[in-house]
Amino acid sequence: MVEIETINRDQFEQIVYCSDPAVGLKSIIAIHDTTLGPATGGCRFFPYPSEEDALKDVLRLAKGMTYKSALSDVAFGGGKAVIIGDPQKIKTKALLQRFAQFVNTLNGHYITAKDVGISGEDLRVMSEVTQHILGIEGKADSSGDPSIATAFGMMRSFDALAKEILGKSSLKSLTFAIQGVGSVGHYLAENLGELGANVIITDIDQNNIRAVQHKISNIQVVNPNDIYGIQCDFFVPCALGGILNQETIPRLKCGIVAGSANNQLATLQDGFRLSERSIFYAPDYVVNAGGIINIAEERLGYDRKRAFEHVGRIYNTVVEIIRRAKNAHKAPFLIADQMAEEILEQAKKKNTKMQPLRNLHKISHQNHLNPL
Ligand code: NAD
Repeated sequence: MVEIETINRDQFEQIVYCSDPAVGLKSIIAIHDTTLGPATGGCRFFPYPSEEDALKDVLRLAKGMTYKSALSDVAFGGGKAVIIGDPQKIKTKALLQRFAQFVNTLNGHYITAKDVGISGEDLRVMSEVTQHILGIEGKADSSGDPSIATAFGMMRSFDALAKEILGKSSLKSLTFAIQGVGSVGHYLAENLGELGANVIITDIDQNNIRAVQHKISNIQVVNPNDIYGIQCDFFVPCALGGILNQETIPRLKCGIVAGSANNQLATLQDGFRLSERSIFYAPDYVVNAGGIINIAEERLGYDRKRAFEHVGRIYNTVVEIIRRAKNAHKAPFLIADQMAEEILEQAKKKNTKMQPLRNLHKISHQNHLNPL
């Protein structure tokens, strides 16, 4: 696993370890900040090599969710959960529902949703036990597949980046190299292909490559390791985190990096490495916020038109980050963090009613809940 930045655990309101050997559950729920609302973020089911790796991942992801929601103007705080283990081997209904029971113990301070390793059906199974869950597909008032909204927000981000950085009002003449054509990457390849852009894709799953080829003819496919060296306008990481690092950055031949994968920078230093190479890195949590914005609309009574209008406003946020970064001669990821922190500070000053959970439970170990 790629080394990631150390995160100060004191910045977190709660870090909850949840385990139940009877069902094989080992999980961590991290609540970073609830100033703007309940900590909301998906549950990732992944075979982490160690508990320490899982902790690093959940902390980094939870903090990212705070910033993502703040800049997206949704009334959510930041949180995330991880379940440690191979979902193909250990996932059972009992395990998922035990996890959901732990979510209940947080009394709505954490709201769970889908992430890597958790399917729509898994969410439905959890929803039999907890109401603190969003994004259940097929349910009345459901916001549906978040990947469509995420891809839409990404397309609006591409528009903003093309205009402000490349001086182009259309994506048609531009080249996009997409790493990973699963849910989000597939929609992007399809949308960009339909617009007439030049699209190059890679994936480790041949079925996903074929699915794109089936929709878009003349699409160029490269091996996973070759995607970094493709001459392109946009490098679009839609697979894994930590892929922008000291090994890959020198190989990039793009003007802009903008992708849906969370935590693309392996370390903060890599953000500066990109700036030194004059590559504009669009902060991942800004451009990939379409999914959370769409899900947030469920709490207002889901209206697709209103939800997509809200997602479309990612364009304005990206423009503001670009302009502030240019004016301040600062890396865009620093500007985005600064903007999110300003929003949180202002909310903390105004908000006298909502008391953050900070210092109530720094770290709680909850291993002794009643069985299902
Ligand atoms: P997905 O699992 O459907 O797709 C990921 C794809 O990447 C798969 O096709 C997989 O085979 C491929 N892949 C994995 N390793 C690879 C490698 N080394 N090289 C090339 N391809 C590789 O996931 P998704 O829902 O499309 O999300 C993509 C990324 O965006 C994830 O990091 C996710 O956390 C993030 N994200 C997704 C959403 C959403 O709405 N789905 C929202 C925000 C962020």
